[in-house]
Amino acid sequence: MFRIRRIYDDLLPIDRSAIAQVQNILREQFPLLSKEKVNKLPDQLRNPFKYRFRSILFVAEGIKAKVKGFALLQHVPDLRFCYLDFISAATYRTGGGIGGALYQRVREEALSLEAVGLFFECLPDDPSLCRDPRILKQNAERLRFYERFGARPIVNTAYETPVKPAEDCPPFLVFDNLGRTVSLERDLTRKIVRAILETHYGNLCPPAYIDRVVASFTDQPVRLREPKYVKGEPRAEVKPVSSLEKRIALVVSDVHNIHHVHEQGYVESPVRISAILKEIEPTGLFERVPIQHFSDKPIKDVHDHRFVEYLRRVSEHVEPGDSVYPYVFPIRNKARPPKELPIRAGYYCIDTFTPLNEKAYFAAKRAVDCALTAARKILEGYRLAYALVRPPGHHAEKQAFGGFCYFNSTAIAAHYLSPIGKVAVLDIDYHYGNGTYDIFRHRSDVLTLSIHGHPHYAYPYFSGFDDERGEGAGAGFNGNYPLQEHLTGEQYRQTLARALRRIARYKAKVLVVALGLDTAKGDPTGTWSLVPKDFNINGRMIGSLRLPTLVIQEGGYRIRTLGTNARHFFNGLWEGTHRFAEPVQMQTNHPPKRVNHGGHEPSGSQVPGLPSPL
Ligand SMILES: [Zn+2]
Repeated sequence: MFRIRRIYDDLLPIDRSAIAQVQNILREQFPLLSKEKVNKLPDQLRNPFKYRFRSILFVAEGIKAKVKGFALLQHVPDLRFCYLDFISAATYRTGGGIGGALYQRVREEALSLEAVGLFFECLPDDPSLCRDPRILKQNAERLRFYERFGARPIVNTAYETPVKPAEDCPPFLVFDNLGRTVSLERDLTRKIVRAILETHYGNLCPPAYIDRVVASFTDQPVRLREPKYVKGEPRAEVKPVSSLEKRIALVVSDVHNIHHVHEQGYVESPVRISAILKEIEPTGLFERVPIQHFSDKPIKDVHDHRFVEYLRRVSEHVEPGDSVYPYVFPIRNKARPPKELPIRAGYYCIDTFTPLNEKAYFAAKRAVDCALTAARKILEGYRLAYALVRPPGHHAEKQAFGGFCYFNSTAIAAHYLSPIGKVAVLDIDYHYGNGTYDIFRHRSDVLTLSIHGHPHYAYPYFSGFDDERGEGAGAGFNGNYPLQEHLTGEQYRQTLARALRRIARYKAKVLVVALGLDTAKGDPTGTWSLVPKDFNINGRMIGSLRLPTLVIQEGGYRIRTLGTNARHFFNGLWEGTHRFAEPVQMQTNHPPKRVNHGGHEPSGSQVPGLPSPL
């Protein structure tokens, strides 16, 4: 068994480990490869705009995330082609279809990048070019493998001309049209061939050699060798490969509906979840994952112990069907919590409309379990995860509930992720996430940013001002963006872009989004007017940070549009994360450099066995 996963960068431990294993495979399978080329792999991934060829790494992983094979694809946006630099199993002939699955995944990626096709080098199966019969046989096997996909060597060119006359086994240039019937246009191919040679062999091939090879592409269209091994039609179409990074791990609370406050006007209702699910599940972007159960420890890591115990005890003592509403608020004498449980509610609460009852604690605890499960999925290699939960959490402070919130799932998940490195929390609920601020205001390892209705007119009224920037060690690590009462999507985005730039500057390793959909037009608790298109763009903008991203559901109460807006947001988030595009509206002072890297080291294709060994 194995799974295929794209590695974007080396931010998370699981990705660092995968890259290190890929580097080991490179060293073992391609011993002639320069140390420099192997060592720069993390940088190539981390800085996609630094090199002319943008590297995309896929790994096939077995149990315990052991890398069994990998493919390193390069995308050249200006010439719209892909180049397969390496594809290799960890050991020769591991079998199990790893090579085929990786190659399919690479083809899928090339198609989604709208590349004209996929180019790569393959050592020749022609006895006049390769003398060693053993190598010749291996080469024939490889070319047979690729021919099954319709990929064949380009013929009638001087590409196989050895740089030095004595060299054995000069590689073919193979082209895979990805199952389409497009022909390969000569002038474009010349540019592509020049880019490949200059980038991969710039230091080995004199310019005159490159000119000669490029000029040898005279056929219009460029011709491929006739099929040699595979009779009949090649396996033309690209079949989708299940690839972890293409899915959003979705965790849905299974007991949220036990918490149902039947008060008139209590808009935080169970139908919110089904309204969202109904719209997002058919997109095919999500993979439902089972809820894992956690102890109280992660909750008590961010909430006051007595507060947690209090909520649990109330749930045990309150009569079924009864609700406890706080009515006494001992704000002056904090050392003396009232003895009676119902009276004590006000000691731990910020408002008078969030009741405690028999079920609130259990529903809130399960929401936390879902958020933690989703966080764990990020650590396991999913790029995006979504905890679709209620009750929401972001108004819950270290020792206070309120605003429909009991435990702050967002903060608990952010804290849970914080040992791996800096975490950014972006709260895009219409209301200020006062709880998240309260929990992290003294910390610099979790950056909390929130875009919300100004507390002059919006709940929670007492917090969310722009001068609340963190305290002590946390000073400067909270950013509040309180906005005016009436706002368009365009105006919203200007602020969102500022917040995203700040996250980029902070160099967060992981992003937690507190997703409120109550910024939408017509939301009964909000005043703004965001429409589905705005949610889509906002999602794309957030995705273009290209961070592992955990989304936790917070507010959003207009049932009629809740699901549509969620769907648009996640479509955008997915696109922003996966598509190759300049980050939306995130201008920097340093436009991406186009560096022709000039091929200062020999490419893997210099060594026998590329693309290799499948
Ligand atoms: Zn809200």
